[in-house]
This record gives sequence, C-alpha cells and structure tokens, in this order.
Amino acid sequence: DRRMKSENDQNRDIRPGHVKEITSTANPVIKSIRALSMKKYRDEEGLFLAEGMKLVTDAVLNGWRIRTFIHAKSAATNENVQQVAAKARALGADILEVNEKVLGAISRRDNPQTVIGVFEQAWTEPADLFLRLTGPGDIILGLDRVRDPGNLGTIIRTADAVGAKGILLIGETTDPFSLEATRASMGSIFNIALGRCSEADLIDARSAIPARVAGTHLEGAVDYRSIDWSAGPVFLMMGNEQQGLTDKLAGVCDDLLLIPMAGRADSLNLAVATGVTLFEMRRGFLEMGEG
Ligand code: SAM
Repeated sequence: DRRMKSENDQNRDIRPGHVKEITSTANPVIKSIRALSMKKYRDEEGLFLAEGMKLVTDAVLNGWRIRTFIHAKSAATNENVQQVAAKARALGADILEVNEKVLGAISRRDNPQTVIGVFEQAWTEPADLFLRLTGPGDIILGLDRVRDPGNLGTIIRTADAVGAKGILLIGETTDPFSLEATRASMGSIFNIALGRCSEADLIDARSAIPARVAGTHLEGAVDYRSIDWSAGPVFLMMGNEQQGLTDKLAGVCDDLLLIPMAGRADSLNLAVATGVTLFEMRRGFLEMGEG
C-alpha cells in the first residue's frame, strides 16, 4: 500500500518547495540527478551536484541557487538537515526524502546522514571579471586549458584563500563543476567568480584589461619576486599542464615570470606554481588575524 502511494507520488508534478518522497532508483527525477555526474548533462542543464552538510549549507547561505535538496528519510529528524531543508525550500528548491538505497545511488559517500544539493552553475562574463580589477592587490587568474580536475579544484581553493577576484578559464578546460573539481575546491567553488572564454576572445580583450598582464613561463626572463606587485591590479596567466602557455597568450603578456628552482625537477605542478605566484603577488595584502 505504502509502495503504491509513493509510486503515485512519483507521477505527480513536483511543485517548487514541495517535499516529495522517492523510494525507487528508477524514478526519473533520480535518474536526471544521477546524470549530473556526466559533463554532457551538467552542460545541458547548467546544473551541478554538491554533497555534504557543510558544503550545501555554506552554498545556500552564500546565495547560490539551489534546485533540489536531497536527504535520507532517516535523517529527517536531524536538526541541521531540517534547517537547511527549510532554507532551501524558502529559496524554491524541491525537497526529496529518499531511502538509503536511493541516496547511495546518487551519493559517492557511504554515509546515510549525508545531504546532496543540485545547484545552478554560475558564470561571470569575462568583461565583468576584469571590472573587478580596480586597485592594487586585485588579481584575476587566467588558466590556459587546465586539464586536471584536481589541479583546478586546488587552484580554486587557493585563489579563494589568497583573496583573488576571480578565475577566467581560457580555451578547452576541465569542468570546474565536476565532482572531482568541486571536491578538491573544498567549498571554494561557491566563493570564487568563474568566467570562461576562448583564446581568441582573450587576445581580442587584451587591450581592455585594466591591469598588468603577467604569465608564468619556464622560459620566463623575469624572476617572479622582482616586481612590486602592490603597485596595481594584475591579470596572471598560468599555462597548461603539458604544454605551458600558448605562444599567443605568452605573446600578450607584459612580463613572462620564472619561479627559479634549485633541484632537478623540470617544472612545478600547475597548482603549486599558481599558489607560489599568487601568494607572492598578494604578500603585502595578507595579514595575521587578531587572535
Ligand atoms: N612542459 C610544460 C612547459 O613546457 O611549459 C610544463 C608546464 S608546468 C607543469 C604548468 C604551468 O605551471 C606552466 O605553464 C607555468 O605556468 C607554471 N610553472 C610551473 N613551474 C614553473 C616555473 N618554475 N616557473 C614559471 N612557471 C612555472
């Protein structure tokens, strides 16, 4: 009888803010949520998944548009779950109460207390990213064809930590909204403005970038520590993991920076090189807290 009821429920349209119980992994809503683990569907729908109470709570409090909030029925009495669910509902999200089998089919974690949010992707126009470069210490980071989702997530986290104004993804890059990238970002995906453009668009926009344009390059002639980065805003470009910066992108830089190295390594990992450079550029702007 209960089964009949829930299957009838499944056929009803979901109204925004509606609480719906789902007991079958074959349910079309669950299927469409599971499909978001594939880039094709994320791109088509403009949506992505985030998992875990802290992540989903922070995102909702940060004003991210949430479409669906999913939790195990067994966690319905959990106060934290109730609070986020109420907030998500107020924002117009559907609330799905699912059994552990359904949760396990969507989730990558083996934790029945976990919650999952379906969020709308947010992209900032490149021109609007550059508008954020208004004064000394302001940095936008440009990533040329970054391929590795772990690197991208780590860089998003680092850019957030250092107080960069945003990240522009140039050319064909890995998806910042993939599970791997969002996980590596440790929640910073919700804190940093992201834009995307082609290499040709970036070259076209070059003269309008209101900043010193610096690229890091293994053949760079300038020690990255030798410039006074506190003098004005910076657009910093980092090269692809295998190929480095394209000649075209390197060609539009005011400076090509080298991070001098001592050992026998050919180069630094992209995320490490980005971290080292960003922290040097922001050196004069980072302060110890009061406590
Ligand atoms: N084989 C690639 C090349 O020839 O450029 C190596 C690319 S490296 C793994 C990825 C990116 O990190 C580079 O394009 C550059 O932006 C930055 N990078 C890594 N080590 C660096 C160094 N010592 N100095 C300047 N940039 C570096």
